[in-house]
Amino acid sequence: MAEPKEIPLMEKIVSLCKRRGFIFQSSEIYGGINGFWDYGPLGAELKRNVKELWWNTMSRQRDDVVGLEATIIMSPQIWKASGHVDTFADMMRECPLTKKRVRADQVEPQGGTAYCFSGAEMQIDEFMDLLSEEILEAVKKGDAEEAKRKHELFKSLREKEKLESGRFDELDQQSQSFKEIAKFLSQVESPRAQAIASQLYQAIKEGWRKHYRTNEPVAVLLRSGEHPESARKKARQFYEALGYFVPKLEEDRTEPIQDSTDFHPESGVKLSPARPFNLMFKTYVGPVESEDNVAYLRPETAQAIFAQFKNVLDSSRVKVPFGIAQIGKAFRNEVTPRNYTFRSREFEQMELEFFIKPDEVVEAIAGHVATAAEAFGVPPSGGSGPAKAGTPNEPQPDWGWQAWHKYWVEERIKFYEGIGLPRTTLVEYWQKPEELAHYARATVDILFKFPFSKRDEKGELMGEELEGVAARSDFDLSQHERFSGKPMGVFDEELRAAWGELDDAKKSGLSKRYYDARLKYLTKTGVEQAKAEKEAKEDADGLAKGQYIPHVIEPSAGVERLILALLCNAYYEDTMPDEKGKPETRVVMKFHPRVAPIKVGVLPLLKNKPDLVKKALEVRDLLRPHMNVFYDDAGAIGRRYRRQDEAGTPFCVTIDFDTLGEKGPELKDTVTLRHRDDGRQDRVRIADLLSLLNERIG
Ligand code: ATP
Repeated sequence: MAEPKEIPLMEKIVSLCKRRGFIFQSSEIYGGINGFWDYGPLGAELKRNVKELWWNTMSRQRDDVVGLEATIIMSPQIWKASGHVDTFADMMRECPLTKKRVRADQVEPQGGTAYCFSGAEMQIDEFMDLLSEEILEAVKKGDAEEAKRKHELFKSLREKEKLESGRFDELDQQSQSFKEIAKFLSQVESPRAQAIASQLYQAIKEGWRKHYRTNEPVAVLLRSGEHPESARKKARQFYEALGYFVPKLEEDRTEPIQDSTDFHPESGVKLSPARPFNLMFKTYVGPVESEDNVAYLRPETAQAIFAQFKNVLDSSRVKVPFGIAQIGKAFRNEVTPRNYTFRSREFEQMELEFFIKPDEVVEAIAGHVATAAEAFGVPPSGGSGPAKAGTPNEPQPDWGWQAWHKYWVEERIKFYEGIGLPRTTLVEYWQKPEELAHYARATVDILFKFPFSKRDEKGELMGEELEGVAARSDFDLSQHERFSGKPMGVFDEELRAAWGELDDAKKSGLSKRYYDARLKYLTKTGVEQAKAEKEAKEDADGLAKGQYIPHVIEPSAGVERLILALLCNAYYEDTMPDEKGKPETRVVMKFHPRVAPIKVGVLPLLKNKPDLVKKALEVRDLLRPHMNVFYDDAGAIGRRYRRQDEAGTPFCVTIDFDTLGEKGPELKDTVTLRHRDDGRQDRVRIADLLSLLNERIG
C-alpha cells in the first residue's frame, strides 16, 4: 500500500485556521477577494490580545510614549511630503499574454527552451473566412435580420473584390463596407466579435498593407515535458490579442534557458520590462471624481504621527526623547499577495515613532555620545561583546541614535520572546548599506522563520520580515516642515543652557556637523544650492537658541504577520492517550497563555447533572470578569479537551463529583486543572483558582 502523502505544514495550518475559526477568506461566498482576510472568533481574540500587549508594552507601561489614533484617509499632501505619491512603488513586470503582474524581485528562476518569435503575419484569406463565420455566429445569436444583411454584404464584397492576401488596394477600397461590418460586430455580445471589430477599424485606419504584419517579438519558455506546439499556441494567442488574427508565426530561434527570472511562472511567456507600480489605493473625497479630490487609503500609519507631532508635543507633557505609538489599518495594493496572510492588501500596523535628540545636541548637553557598542557592549551590526556594566538597557542621557536604535531592536525582540516566539525562531537582519532607504541610517529587520521562508545553503530557514526597526534621521519631520510650511522643530531648554557653557571650538565643531547634515538632506531632496545653504545655516544657528528638529527611531510591526508567526510557532502534532488510555494523535496550538484566544475552558463532567452544572457556572462566573473563559458542556470530556487543544486554550478546569464532595469532604470545592501542553492534571481549590491562573497567564 502506498504511504499516505505528507501534507505540507502550511496547508495543515491554513486548514486548521478555517476549521477552528481563526482566519477566513474575505467574501468567501462570492469566491473570495485576493489579498483580503477575515478573522473568525478565535482569530479576533488572538488579534485583540496581540494589539493590547503591544499597546501596553510600548505605551501604557512607559512614561516616555503616548498614543495616537488618526484617520485612514488624510490630506494627500501628507503622501506627497512622505514621498509615497512619487516613489511608493514596486517594480513590476507583466505577462504580455495574460496581463498578470508579478513583482520583479519575486519571480522564481526557471529553465527550459525559449521559443523566440520575431513577429507574425496575418493570413488574410483565413481572416476573411473567420469574419464570415463570426457574422454567421451573430446571425444565430441575436439580431438575425441585421446580421443576415451584413453577411450578404460581406459575401458580395468578397466575390466582387477578391478580398485575399496581397490585394491590399482592393481591401482599402472597401473601407465603408468594412466599417459597417465592424460597427455591427462591435455591438454583438461576444469578446471575440468585438476584438475582430477593433481589428477591422485598425486595418481601415492604418491601411491593410501596413496593418497585416507586426514585428513585435515574443518568447515562450518551454519547460520539460511540454510540447513545442504549446509554445506556438501561446505565441499565436499573443498575436491575436494584439489584433493579428490567424497569424502566421515568424519563428526566429530557440534558446536554452537556465535560472532565468524573465518568464512568467504560469504562462511561461517572456515578461515585459520592469516598471514601477504605485501601491497606494486611490479614492475620491466628496461627490466629484476629479483629480482635485483624489485621496489615498493610508499605506502606513506612521505619517499621521509625524503630521500630528506638534499637536501631541503641545498638548502632552512630553519632552524629547519620547515616542508616539499608533495601531491601525494600512492598505497596499500589493502586486502579488501571497503566503496566506503574510502579504495582504489590507492589514494592521503597530508603529512607534520614537523621537530623539540629534547626536550634536546629545554631545552639547552630555559632553559625549555613547554609541551602541559603548551602551550595550556590542557593535551596532550584531556581533557580541561584554555589556557595559550597570547600564545595559536603561536609556541614558548620552545615548546617540545608534544606542537608541539598538535599544529598540532589543526591546522588540524581548517583546516577541515574551509572547512565545523564542529567539531561535527570529533573525536580526541588519540591512546592508546598499539596501537602505536613502534617508535611513540603519534598519534592522526582525525576521521570523516561517515554514515558507527560503533556506540558506546549510538548509536553515532564512526568515521573512515581521518588523522593521529603522533609524530615519530627521527626514520625515523635515519633509512635513517643508511641505506644510509649519515649523516642526522643538525648543529644548537644556540645550540652550548647555550651549552657553561650551567653548567656541566646540560650538563651531557641533554647528558645522549639524550644518553639514542639514545641507545634505536639503540638497538631496532637491532644494536649490544657495537656498539650501541659507536654510542649513539658519538651522545650525538654531542650536544656540535651543532649537532643533528631532530624529526618529521607528519600530514598525504588522499585526497579521505576527499572528501568522504565532500560529506557525504554536502548531504541534503529538500523541496523547484517549479516555481509554489508547494513544491518539492530537493537534495542539501551544500559544503562550498571554496571547491564547481563550485562557481557560470550564467543563462540567456531565451536562445532565444539575449540581455539576450549577457549580461549573459558578466557576465560569468567578473567572469571567478577569479572563476569556469558554464554557463547554457538550460531548465526552476527552473530546472537549481536544477541542480546546486545537483552539490553543492553555488550561481547562473540570468540575466533577469530587468537586461536590461526593468522595469525601477533603475534595469538596476542588477542581481538576488540566494543562494543555502535557495533559497534566492537578487538583486545586476553587478559592485558589483565580490567583493561580492569573499567575500562569502572566
Ligand atoms: P515588505 O518588504 O515585506 O513588503 P516593507 O518593508 O514594505 O515589507 P514596511 O513598510 O517596513 O514593510 O512595513 C512595516 C511592517 O508592516 C512590516 O514589517 C510588516 O510586518 C507589515 N506589512 C507591510 N506590508 C504588509 C502586507 N502587505 N501585509 C501584511 N503586513 C505588511
